[in-house]
Formats: sequence, C-alpha cells, structure tokens
Amino acid sequence: MHGGAGHVEDTDGEQQHGAEHAASAGWAKLVAGESALEAVVTAVCLLEDDPHFNAGRGAVLNLAGATELDAAVATGEGGFGAVGALQAVQHPVLVARDVMEQTDHLLLVGEGALAFARARGYPPFNPVTVERLQRYERDRALLEQGTLPYWQRLNQRRSRYGTVGAVAVDRAGAVAAATSTGGISLKLPGRVGDTPVMGAGTYAELIGAASATGDGEGILRLGLTRLAVQTMVQHPAQQAVEAAIEVARQKKVAAGLIAVDAQGGLGFACTTPQMVYACLDEKGLRSGI
Ligand code: ASP
Repeated sequence: MHGGAGHVEDTDGEQQHGAEHAASAGWAKLVAGESALEAVVTAVCLLEDDPHFNAGRGAVLNLAGATELDAAVATGEGGFGAVGALQAVQHPVLVARDVMEQTDHLLLVGEGALAFARARGYPPFNPVTVERLQRYERDRALLEQGTLPYWQRLNQRRSRYGTVGAVAVDRAGAVAAATSTGGISLKLPGRVGDTPVMGAGTYAELIGAASATGDGEGILRLGLTRLAVQTMVQHPAQQAVEAAIEVARQKKVAAGLIAVDAQGGLGFACTTPQMVYACLDEKGLRSGI
C-alpha cells in the first residue's frame, strides 16, 4: 500500500495506521486464497473510506470546490479499467473494476462515468469533509494573492500528495494494482491526472504491477509505472522501482512508487522526503512514512 508521498503530516499516526489496516485486509484476502485483484480492491476501498487520505471520502477539492475522483485497477493478465473526474461516488475503485469487467473500454470520465456508476447501482455519495472544505477556503484565499499565473502559484503550493494505491501478488503468481485519488487540490475542473491512465499511475503485466503517487502531470509524461514494470524483465521489484524513481528524480518529478513482481518481491521508493507505506508478506508487516 501507499498513502501518498510528499511532506507528510501524520502527528497522530492515523495515516500509517490506516495504511497498515488496509494492507492487513488485503493480505487476509490473499491468505484466504483470493485473487491479487480482490486484495488490492479491498485495501483501496478501506482507504477510500478513510478521510485522512485524498481518495473517496476526504478527497481534495478542485478550483470550483467540488471533488472529481480518479481511480484505476490493472491485472497482470492485461485487464485494465479506470474512471476519471468522477463525482459523487463512495468507491471509485469499484466503478473502475466494473469498467474493466463489464465493458470493453479502459477509461470512462465525467458525466459518462457517473451515468455508468449509477446504472451499475452506485448511489449518490458526498465525499466532501468539513476539514477539506476549510482547507479549500484557506488555500483558495492564498491562491488569490500574488501576481504569478494561476498554475505557477498552484505549483508552489504542492507539497503533499495523498493518493492511495495497492499492489499484490497472489498464490498463483498473478499480480494486480489499484490506485484511487481526488487528484490535486485546486485543480481545474475536468483535469484528469496520472492515476487512471494505464502505465502512468497504475499498471500491471504478467511480470509485475505498480502504483504511483505524486506530481500527476510529471508521472504521465514519464509513464512511470510502465517504466517500473518493464524494468522487471531484468530486475526484481525493488531495483525496478529504484531505477524508475531515479528517472523521475533526474526529470525533477515528485513521485512515489510501489510495486510487486510475480516472484513475490516488493519494491517501494520515492523522490519526496516521505511516503506513507505498509507492506505484508511472510516476513510480517512493515510500515513507515
Ligand atoms: N498523482 C495524483 C494526481 O496527480 C496526486 C497524488 O498522488 O496525490 O492526480
């Protein structure tokens, strides 16, 4: 699991605890013999419900004060489904899974994604929390100060990425990844980031799976998760992730990555000072920030 990268304020340990809890829930699925896909979706759903993360409930607000959610799932067998700029749904990752399993499309966005979600039976849900609303009002007031163009002022204010993601490998050696986010605070309405784009924020092939967090536009340019997974042809997950993160560092892209390879190797690294993570294998639980 990752719970976002950047300068993490987690004084009460809620984010680390949330990531540990979600990783444990995913692990329990694997131990019960369920698929890697089931494990990553279960884990991401839990963090979509946790307001300490920027996904589902607690997602950040765009410039218009609304939430627009991005999410994706990917399997090693080539399955991929995603939603972008989706409003008013509790679990975007489940809608992404439905796009993969119930349509022959890869990505649905905006109104069409919402109509699809409603047709699939997802009821209206307001993900906005009081804390996010207060932060929106404060940040918007700060953004209005100064003379730089909007996007330059916005860039100066970005230091925390709270996207959530999970990767897993199951007993059969099948891998999967899932990622969910509210995107970037004060983004323009309609902006879709790296998370729901195959090979950018979320990716899987038979050899491995990866999920990213950080500067979405930079991650999109680099195709960061595809880069990491394709490096697994020659290297285990940890080395592959470090190689991809080194490319991000050279390109000055703030990014965090987690990955698994089909042999059960785990990898995580970031260019940022911190990344919330938790992982579980036969050696037990490891977590940190
Ligand atoms: N990568 C996400 C985005 O740009 C943000 C994040 O990682 O928190 O939409």
